Amino acid sequence: MASVFTELKTPITGAYQQPTGLFINNEFVEGVDKKTFEVINPSTEEVICSVHEANEKDVDIAVAAARKAFEGEWRKVTPGQRGRFMTNLAELVEKNVDLLAAVESLDNGKSITMAKGDVGAVAACIRYYGGWADKIEGSTVDIAPDMFHYIKKEPIGVCGQIIPWNFPLLMLAWKIGPALATGNTIVLKTAEQTPLSALVFAQFVKEAGFPPGVLNIISGFGKTAGAAISSHMDVDKVAFTGSTIVGRSIMKAAAASNLKKVTLELGGKSPNIVFDDADIEQAISWVNYGIYYNHGQCCCAGTRIYVQEGIYDKFVEAFKKRAQANKVGDPFHHETFQGPQVSQLQYDRIMGYIESGKEDGATIEVGGERHGDKGYFIQPTIFSNVTSEMKIMQEEIFGPVCAIAKFSTEEDVIKHGNDTIYGLAAAVHTQDVNRAIRVSNALRAGTVWVNCYNMLHHQLPFGGYKASGIGRELGREALNNYLETKSVAIRLGGALF
Ligand code: ADP
Repeated sequence: MASVFTELKTPITGAYQQPTGLFINNEFVEGVDKKTFEVINPSTEEVICSVHEANEKDVDIAVAAARKAFEGEWRKVTPGQRGRFMTNLAELVEKNVDLLAAVESLDNGKSITMAKGDVGAVAACIRYYGGWADKIEGSTVDIAPDMFHYIKKEPIGVCGQIIPWNFPLLMLAWKIGPALATGNTIVLKTAEQTPLSALVFAQFVKEAGFPPGVLNIISGFGKTAGAAISSHMDVDKVAFTGSTIVGRSIMKAAAASNLKKVTLELGGKSPNIVFDDADIEQAISWVNYGIYYNHGQCCCAGTRIYVQEGIYDKFVEAFKKRAQANKVGDPFHHETFQGPQVSQLQYDRIMGYIESGKEDGATIEVGGERHGDKGYFIQPTIFSNVTSEMKIMQEEIFGPVCAIAKFSTEEDVIKHGNDTIYGLAAAVHTQDVNRAIRVSNALRAGTVWVNCYNMLHHQLPFGGYKASGIGRELGREALNNYLETKSVAIRLGGALF
């Protein structure tokens, strides 16, 4: 029998046992067809290890496990106890921060400092939702004296969750937090590029106290395992984070199968607006962080930077220096800010967008080239002389590439800011509070940051207007994505009419 663990090493933890199996019913198992796929280190382009690959048959097994748990053991667990298991899980994540962060850096390429930040946010998110578990309440409604009506909130059932590779652990936490707190069971598929950290995390699920089948985590590809989840007749809800194109196919599959509930967190092309009166040093720091954080691999990345004409030249000069000073390199160096892109495919896509910007006549202010000669590293890149029709101004690049444009009036910049099919996030930099609120109100985006960027928090809903998605993750609001509402009408005796 092939092993479902393998020994790996990271520069900060040394040797450790990496689970490689599918995590179903609280155990690591091989796939039915015993297939595996390779996981690549994006910093070196070398194979880290192989993991077991789930196909449609494995999805069936995982869904059956989740169904059995939903109708059996998990039903017997009180909401308070559910919350306790989640708190235990959060504590186990905190205890293992070094290992989880190191595996995340190894597999995804993000800097170790940021990976540690992600793991801290994972624990906080799971703990937060654990706190909600025993606070899900219904209500009563007075309609008639001989009747008693109440409204009850119930879990939806078996939830399929499909996550991307840019924040492998954090996206997992955002998904499982509200689903577990509300009493659902889960089959979660990680992204094929980054399965490793979630498998390390899976080891803590049993230890935290969850019964078998409540949280199943599988590795596999989108077209096979992912599609099997979204079209499965026994999955009651699918939650997805990823590209808009895949989001559409998931919604179609859900509609064509059993009309399972759907929530989607998709792409973005977020405007980052700097007015003449902004604190320019601060604005440059936040604009830099807004685009280059996580190597530009954020759905909310501030890719379209609009700077008012009075400070435009000064801003561009200072921003160029700032972008060039970002440390690009080995994610395990503590000073590294930007690691490699996640895969060859992403690297090629991003370089394709850089070429398209050049062909369309935009000017490269800095970057535009590969960084080094090994690994999927790309220089922080800034385009200027852009027009709104250019591909680099309309499409999501998902890399360290931004475009900077000049504007004159508030009215103009609101129009430009909203000139996109997306509506995930936006930012405004100004010292005028009236303008900050006016512009925030006018921008059609699910999140607006004022004088900052990427300040996400598990207590605040996050999600998109327009083609950026359906529903909201995080905060109290996300709980509703995982609840059904039942109205109960009781006749208190008396005649029929
Ligand atoms: P990217 O293009 O950046 O890799 P995707 O949206 O393709 O982002 O992938 C996000 C997640 O969606 C991954 O877990 C991937 O396996 C999954 N996925 C891709 N295609 C499909 C599909 N047709 N059905 C379901 N899931 C899919």
